[in-house]
Amino acid sequence: MKTQKELKVRASGKINLYLNVSKNPRSDGYHEIKSIMQSIGLSDELTFKVSDNENTKDAANPNGIYITSNDINIPLDERNLVHKAAAIILDEFRLRGKYKIEINIKKHIPVCAGLAGGSTNAAAALVALNEIFALNLKYPKLLKLAALVGSDVPFCIKGGTVLAEGRGDKLSQLPDLPFYWVVLATDGRKLHTKDIYEMFDLVGVPVRPRHRELVRDIKEKQYDRFFEKLENDLEKVAAIEDGKVDSLKEKVRDLGADITQMTGSGPTIFAFCSDLTAARKVYNGLIAQSEKAILTHTTPYSLLII
Ligand code: ATP
Repeated sequence: MKTQKELKVRASGKINLYLNVSKNPRSDGYHEIKSIMQSIGLSDELTFKVSDNENTKDAANPNGIYITSNDINIPLDERNLVHKAAAIILDEFRLRGKYKIEINIKKHIPVCAGLAGGSTNAAAALVALNEIFALNLKYPKLLKLAALVGSDVPFCIKGGTVLAEGRGDKLSQLPDLPFYWVVLATDGRKLHTKDIYEMFDLVGVPVRPRHRELVRDIKEKQYDRFFEKLENDLEKVAAIEDGKVDSLKEKVRDLGADITQMTGSGPTIFAFCSDLTAARKVYNGLIAQSEKAILTHTTPYSLLII
């Protein structure tokens, strides 16, 4: 008899509250970063269905991984980070070809927007397959496998408020930031992380890292002081590629939000708002000018099995 197991995971995006990038890549091709990352409520929903593959082997798909999505902007083959994560689990535990793994990705997180959409989907795949196959993988091993998929994936396993160093894989959990309303704004343009880092190497100006001061502010709950120091080294170069980065920041300031910055390699900008009324004003103001805006919030969770 065919056995089938099914699991749904809600996978949160992230914003970079602080991102310091060292100029020029390391010998392994990655840039050394210091980043304070924060999970947000905006999330994708992934459904994993695993069944025995006895009579249904597909020579064209030896991994048995089948991905579907509502978003035409993401690849559905081996290039999908979810596929990469699932294949790593199959190889590590010699499960390749034994199961049919159907994964549906219901996307809400904009693609190539600096919100770690692909990375959080990959993190969800690792956690879901760990659960479905009862692999009993603990955090350290999950984080190791996550780093094999991509730099932001370990953070997406952990979630909350985290200091990321190295290439993004050395993580220190910080006390959770309190609940804040966050408005995201983007013109929908896609910026590729690799291109923005390459531009940074060409024209970016390196800045002395201040992550220790920011970590201290969080630990001392000095959030006003913390928000004054937000910084993203990639913002200036991304703004050269996409002029909307600066104009959207100006717009959200006009709408009353002072704390605003680009996330990751952009082009999305975020605005922190003191209460829902202030957040609605920013959100409605952007929508009225036909900008793409999303109203979300900080959250201590990255992945939720639902
Ligand atoms: P980051 O903030 O980690 O730099 P990002 O938010 O800028 O990432 P993603 O949305 O994660 O960018 O997409 C980056 C690339 O990964 C795109 O080229 C996209 O096609 C590819 N990709 C692969 N799998 C996925 C996925 N499941 N969801 C989104 N993008 C994916």
